[in-house]
Amino acid sequence: MTIGWHFDNTYSKLPNIFSSEVLPTKVKSPDLIILNDDLSKELGLDFSTTNNKNLSELFSGNLLPKDSKTIAQAYAGHQFGHFTMLGDGRATLMGEHVTKDNERFDIQFKGSGITPFSRNGDGRAALGPMLREYIISEAIHALNIPTTRSLAVVKTGEDVVRENILPGAILTRVASSHLRVGTFQYIAARQNENELKTLVNYTVDRHYPNIEKSKNQALDLLRALMEKQINLVINWMRVGFIHGVMNTDNMTISGETIDYGPCAFMDTYDPQTVFSSIDQLGRYAYFNQPSITKWNLARFAECLVPLVNEDKDKAIDIVTEEINNFEKIYETKWLNMMRDKLGLFGEDPKDQVLILDLLTWMHQNKTDYTNTFCYLMNEKIQNNEIFNNENFIVWKKRWEERLMSNNNTPEKYLKLMRSVNPLVIPRNHKVEEALELANNNDLSLVKKLIKIIEKPYENQKEIAEYQSAAPISDQRYQTFCGT
Ligand code: AMP
Ligand code: MG
Repeated sequence: MTIGWHFDNTYSKLPNIFSSEVLPTKVKSPDLIILNDDLSKELGLDFSTTNNKNLSELFSGNLLPKDSKTIAQAYAGHQFGHFTMLGDGRATLMGEHVTKDNERFDIQFKGSGITPFSRNGDGRAALGPMLREYIISEAIHALNIPTTRSLAVVKTGEDVVRENILPGAILTRVASSHLRVGTFQYIAARQNENELKTLVNYTVDRHYPNIEKSKNQALDLLRALMEKQINLVINWMRVGFIHGVMNTDNMTISGETIDYGPCAFMDTYDPQTVFSSIDQLGRYAYFNQPSITKWNLARFAECLVPLVNEDKDKAIDIVTEEINNFEKIYETKWLNMMRDKLGLFGEDPKDQVLILDLLTWMHQNKTDYTNTFCYLMNEKIQNNEIFNNENFIVWKKRWEERLMSNNNTPEKYLKLMRSVNPLVIPRNHKVEEALELANNNDLSLVKKLIKIIEKPYENQKEIAEYQSAAPISDQRYQTFCGT
């Protein structure tokens, strides 16, 4: 019985400038500590007959499967608004695995040693941030939001030096590709139209085959990505997810959430919420995420200008007009998403005011974002006193009246609400608690947490302790980039 790899490495066949051949740096004593069984099955991979030692060698990059072809990809990016040449500084693409259903996935190591793009970095990753990515990416997937996935984490048996000395680890990330807005920026900066065409063709072939025959592929690609990214950010807004580092190199062309660094879920509703210690100005705050998505899409549009029209000015006008549709599309979709959260069918001109009044009340009364919607779905949660508030009761009456329209019934609206409002999210204090124990060689809380967040829309035994908001002492929670 073999594992079932089927590699077909197309990216490494692109011209040399797109990537650099590199081998993962071998590690001392790899130890596999977590393997994603569900994802393995989805990929058509069977690890059950491979012993732990060989799996540890595999997921550390010490022992590469036949037909893998390891590369580091080149890209650029705007980081907090500033353009930089980047590339995979600590990641190695193992190869593209194609499933029986002909789906193609990048299998990538993160934390696998230095590459030509490492700049001053050590190419390594610490255990805490890699487990954090595993937990949050799997939570985002379970919330029905497009994302890269996490297949495995190994401890390397080596130390990494950060502010403290930490155990080293490697995460195996699975993505429908690692093409980023930053990949386009890197190629566009070289001002070679043939290279740009190569990248557009590759992207269309891999992700947007429906525009293969389009008359203006570059423009249609912009439209397609805009739609995907709007859907993505609306999903983040729906569950209170704050990505934390929405640089253009961290925005995928597939529309998947990528790069789980300083991300975290909002607990108390506050549109200005920022967790990342390096985001001093709140550029990537909860409420700014849609406008940053638009900003990033504008950078993507700039890259495509040479292919949109021969006349540069005309091309700029065309893409500008396209980007300026962002707000209109976003607002309509956002409103529909919020209607779903409140179980509302059809449209009523007063819906927007109804929704905004609830959000304002939540903000003023510092209520928990997730738990407020749980309360509206009659889900038992702790500390419900706040919902006896007079203004809330008045608002709730208005909502109940609106609920009655369009032949709605409690069965119908609760079904809708339950499909979009999670009962549980990976709360910051629970994530930290689990990671702290993991740093002391005990993975029990990480595994328990993963089990809970894998079914966020279901009422499970033991869910209660994962539903309460952070203790007061945790209110100024901060996250750090996992570098
Ligand atoms: P990120 O903030 O994780 O999106 O990373 C931004 C850039 O820094 C990417 O090009 C990474 O590959 C690179 N990078 C992050 N951490 C390291 C590290 N420890 N060693 C080398 N490169 C790194
Ligand atoms: Mg990144």
